[in-house]
Amino acid sequence: TFKAWVIEKGEAGQNLRFTDFDEANLMDGDVTVRVTHSTLNYKDGLAMTGRSPVVRRFPMIPGIDFSGVVESSEHPDYTPGDAVVLTGWGVGESHLGAYAERARVKGDWLVPLPDGLKAEEAMAVGTAGYTAMLCVMALDAHGLSPSDGPAIVTGASGGVGSVAVALLAKAGWHVIAVTGRAGEADYLTSLGASEILDRAELANPGKPLAKERWAAGIDAVGSTTLANLLAATKADGAIAACGLAGGMDLPTSVAPFILRGVSLFGINSVTTPLPKRRQAWARIAKELDRDLLARMTSTVPLAQVGALAEDILAGRIRGRTVVTIR
Ligand code: NAP
Repeated sequence: TFKAWVIEKGEAGQNLRFTDFDEANLMDGDVTVRVTHSTLNYKDGLAMTGRSPVVRRFPMIPGIDFSGVVESSEHPDYTPGDAVVLTGWGVGESHLGAYAERARVKGDWLVPLPDGLKAEEAMAVGTAGYTAMLCVMALDAHGLSPSDGPAIVTGASGGVGSVAVALLAKAGWHVIAVTGRAGEADYLTSLGASEILDRAELANPGKPLAKERWAAGIDAVGSTTLANLLAATKADGAIAACGLAGGMDLPTSVAPFILRGVSLFGINSVTTPLPKRRQAWARIAKELDRDLLARMTSTVPLAQVGALAEDILAGRIRGRTVVTIR
């Protein structure tokens, strides 16, 4: 057996406990990993609380990301001792997840720990930071650059937002960081934000087209906030949408698309094909400032991550949280 967080479902709903898990009950996979680090994402909060039905199988070990060392492998690309990273693929949702000392997964889901990143740094990045990079890559591919105007980041004090601010600022963008936490202004400035915008200013329904204010954006919030982002995007600019921290709806119109040529890119990190995954991790290893990454990261031991589930959903977690396992 090994230590793990386990979600079970009974008559009265689901419950979460830290317990011993029998290795024989791990699911099928061709690589077994000794997990050394995991992390806390918004989706882990949804899974652990049951707030949204992200868990598709019970019992479930939550945790959508891990880094660790291969213990045994029948996959041609991996041998014992290899340092690996996993994000997404339904791990912690439909496949037993990362908040455990061991995981058995498909080798096709893994990427080698990128050169220049430590296992704990890879988890300080995690799905949230890796998604921020996918957003940056979508904006780059559209041909946008800092000379086009400012870039806006919503949910800026959160995980996706903090990494997005750091990446965009490093690339030379004038970053407008949108937050509901005025007390985090200094933190966001230290990550490279040039301006802080109170999220209340984007929370109410606005006109279909507003004054053009930014050329690019990374949105972790959705709903009216995303609608307002689109309405104030400069001609031929783009927003990369990855999150729903403010709601799943999108009360917008076609006006920004057809009258200003604005683009909306959808970002899904869960099933990104391997070549793009490796490219994103390589760029993270190269472009993400390690001092800033350290500044946005807190650490908790495995036994304590369950207590943070409500906090991340309530927007009380700043930046990224690494979970140490061994
Ligand atoms: P997080 O650390 O909790 O960050 C979310 C941030 O959003 C909060 O810190 C808060 O920032 C802001 N926020 C929270 N509630 C809000 C509300 N009601 N209205 C407006 N803003 C609110 O979570 P995360 O792990 O970075 O994830 C962020 C979002 O991206 C989540 O919806 C997550 O599911 C999504 N996501 C999607 C993908 C994908 O593949 N598409 C991957 C990763 C994450 P401030 O306090 O600064 O305002």
